[in-house]
Amino acid sequence: MKLPSRSKSYMIPEYSLTGDLLSYITCGLQYRYQNKGALPPSKPVQRWFGEFIHGVMEESYNEWKYGKKEFPWDWKEDIRPIEDLIDLRLQVRGLYPHDEDLFFSINQPGMEMTLDDLNEHDHKKLASARAEKAINIWGKHLFPLIDASELLIKGIRPMPNQDKHKTRSNYYGINGVVDVLTSTKINRNDEQSSLYNYNNKIVQFIKNNLSEKSDSDDYEIIIDYKGMKRPPTKVLNPLSEDKWENHKQQILTYSWLRSKQEDSKNISAGIILYLNELVPSKEDLVLIKEEIRNNLTDVPEGIEFDEDIQLIEEWEEDEKAPNLSEEFKIARSIRFISVNEKEREKALEKFDNVVEDIESSLLKEMKGCKIQDAWKAEADNRTCLACDFKTFCKNNSDITKDFKIP
Ligand code: SF4
Repeated sequence: MKLPSRSKSYMIPEYSLTGDLLSYITCGLQYRYQNKGALPPSKPVQRWFGEFIHGVMEESYNEWKYGKKEFPWDWKEDIRPIEDLIDLRLQVRGLYPHDEDLFFSINQPGMEMTLDDLNEHDHKKLASARAEKAINIWGKHLFPLIDASELLIKGIRPMPNQDKHKTRSNYYGINGVVDVLTSTKINRNDEQSSLYNYNNKIVQFIKNNLSEKSDSDDYEIIIDYKGMKRPPTKVLNPLSEDKWENHKQQILTYSWLRSKQEDSKNISAGIILYLNELVPSKEDLVLIKEEIRNNLTDVPEGIEFDEDIQLIEEWEEDEKAPNLSEEFKIARSIRFISVNEKEREKALEKFDNVVEDIESSLLKEMKGCKIQDAWKAEADNRTCLACDFKTFCKNNSDITKDFKIP
């Protein structure tokens, strides 16, 4: 008996906000090789840390929710087992950290180690230091406010320019995963929680930025974590990805997706936590210093931060990392993005445009066009240098193409 197959018109291509949109914007050809060709990058450090820190935060939230263990958490006892679990999950997907970023998994075959053999001095590396700060600084304030964690949000949109490209489907799907905070938890006014919320840095931050909202309004805030430093607010090189703007578009698109769900409330804003700012690496500090010098980043306002800025400005690469204040790092690591209808429409149009580009490249390839001719290959020098495909990418031959800050 012949089984009926699903009609082609119902196979709707699905795009994820981070895996497709942001990845394609970085470089179309790299996206094609990595995503559509299912080739995992050989040293996907940025991707590894992004996924690692997301996983650590989600797992920590679950442990907190069911165990309610008080903060601060101990690295060896409470956090390292979570790191190990997430590291193993990522290894299954072919994602590995650099040796200098994370201590090897104690569960690896042939590794006769237990938690008792670990010590902070030899085994706690950059990713662990960031995970510990992320949990003990932000987890403490964030977890009690989360109403829904790891919420899958999905939506469907008409495929742009269907007639022009003779597209394979009339619609496309968008998806993303977010944590959601609600005003009910943010504005809790029983005695114990109001005392708690009074000291809660996230509540204070929301109230400072959401000035037009009264305590009685019913609203939601979307949360996203990024395993990176705060991006520059201005990008001079036309080939560089404008991460500041793209992250805003991401939150706006998430808010649209969430608004389509039945149980959603008015989505007022999004918060992004740039977790590398809590423990910046030397590479991060070099970029932060350059951005401050060229007025390309926003620094926290107030005379209490003058000393931190001076420390960064005077710091030299061969010196020990400057001793920045905790408050400075916290202020740099959090970003508020207001949601409004007009901006949301613009973000969705941008998403449509990216999907149109991807679909038209796919169609060209399906008609026999060579991969390198079908996909746009454009990136800044930093991205090309770290790209696995640079040896055969025609566009990488001109390494002088990069734009230098004068
Ligand atoms: S080398 Fe550069 S232009 Fe070529 S695929 Fe990689 S990132 Fe894109």
